Amino acid sequence: MSAGVRLVILGKQGAGKGTQCVQLSRHYVVPHISTGDMFRAAMKSGTQMGLLARTFVDDGQLVPDEVVIGIIAERLSDKDARGRGFILDGFPRTVHQAQALSELLLPGRLDIVIDLAVDTALVLERLASRRVCSSCGHNYSVQKPPKFNWNCDHCGGEVVQRPDDKSEAIQTRLDLYESQTSPLIEHYCNEGLLETMDGAKPMDEVFTDIVNAIDARQAARSRS
Ligand SMILES: [Zn+2]
Repeated sequence: MSAGVRLVILGKQGAGKGTQCVQLSRHYVVPHISTGDMFRAAMKSGTQMGLLARTFVDDGQLVPDEVVIGIIAERLSDKDARGRGFILDGFPRTVHQAQALSELLLPGRLDIVIDLAVDTALVLERLASRRVCSSCGHNYSVQKPPKFNWNCDHCGGEVVQRPDDKSEAIQTRLDLYESQTSPLIEHYCNEGLLETMDGAKPMDEVFTDIVNAIDARQAARSRS
């Protein structure tokens, strides 16, 4: 088994992060910790945190730092994440959150930050066609629908367009992403943790690129 990894993955909505995270999570045997999934689950279950998160997400806004950092701190203290590591997806989003994360990880640190870079035009095209199972979260698209009548091939759930994939919400989120994440990318670049990947490539090639980047860093560390 591989050594595990402590990874942050950055990339705008529609960059293909979800797919990469599922594969990386299996490959390195670490949990995929997605703030988006955590919020969607909380919203579905109608908890107080979920209702609070919904007011921001439905508007295409980001959930405030204190709320997000608290949730992440709790999740990272679980045994799986403390032992083998994690893939963080959707967090951190700001330099402030990144600093909070560094403190949470002491005396350890992140191994690597992957930026999955894609053009906004390509993202808009991908998101307009994306559909998702409302029960199990499996991804489909207009080009690759489920076999039968927009019912999920895996669980029979209804396959729909996510409200935050609709065009008005997307533009707001992409603008927010650019303005908030540029400083974050610079921050991780200065820390020597950043690796930029071409997210426009086919998904299996992107996966291989990411694994090679992680393994090269881990090999370099074990030599030093
Ligand atoms: Zn399903």
